[in-house]
Amino acid sequence: MIKTIESILPPPPHHFVGDGFRVHNFIPTAIPMARLNPFIMLDYNSPFQFPPSDQPPGVGVHPHRGFETVTIAYQGKVAHHDSSGNSGVIGEGEVQWMTAASGVLHKEYHEKEFAKTGGMFQMVQLWVNLPAAFKMSPPKYQAITREQIARVDLKDNGKIEIIAGEYQGQKGPASTFSPVHLINVFLNPKGEAHLSFDIKDNTALLVIKGKIRVLGQEVKEHHMVVFHQDGTDIQINSEEESTVLVLSAAPIDEPIAAYGPFVMNSREEIMQAYQDFQQGKFGYLED
Ligand code: MN
Repeated sequence: MIKTIESILPPPPHHFVGDGFRVHNFIPTAIPMARLNPFIMLDYNSPFQFPPSDQPPGVGVHPHRGFETVTIAYQGKVAHHDSSGNSGVIGEGEVQWMTAASGVLHKEYHEKEFAKTGGMFQMVQLWVNLPAAFKMSPPKYQAITREQIARVDLKDNGKIEIIAGEYQGQKGPASTFSPVHLINVFLNPKGEAHLSFDIKDNTALLVIKGKIRVLGQEVKEHHMVVFHQDGTDIQINSEEESTVLVLSAAPIDEPIAAYGPFVMNSREEIMQAYQDFQQGKFGYLED
């Protein structure tokens, strides 16, 4: 059975996060936070040319608790540091999967050498909610490199890259706390891809590049499709060379209490997060 389309959304007006990320906020601006849960935030930095800079642009030290931040690089390079001691740089086709869980301080900047020359920058940052049972687990960081990402060849149609979850028996490298599929579909002109997910999944896609058709409807570059929970199958047809990020995950059926960089299950837990942050319990990270 086919998953039908609930909505096709154009990119909301852009704004800057720090001075390094020029993003369209799809979730929660255009799509309510709970609708695609556990995907509770989606910022899309559509292609943007950053000028050369000796001071890498980005976002300075800030806290997170209760969820995971997942950054997917399509163009440009981004560096990550957090107070649990993890750091790394990702480039095109790579992913930073940070489990903030009980709490970290975090900073995110363009990688130094990339910043020096400047260049095209295109990224997605997702926040993936954690089940209550894991919100206070120790923080963790997965740097997912090109070599680790699983691939399925679609022959003349293109290829599929699996970051998390699985496609045709190929499993993505990311370890997750609830069932999550995060898949990039690369289609040749006039290509076709078939995907299948649980009927209860919250499922959406974002056209990173090109132009596609889903159920006969045209979906333009940088537009997002939200699917109903009424079927299992999706067919994507490309009109030109296209890249599509597909997100599908089992909803976490728990209350969401969100405030700024903290996403918990109750107001009390949010207040506790602020208190713990102010008392320095998230550790230390140099600015
Ligand atoms: Mn962050």
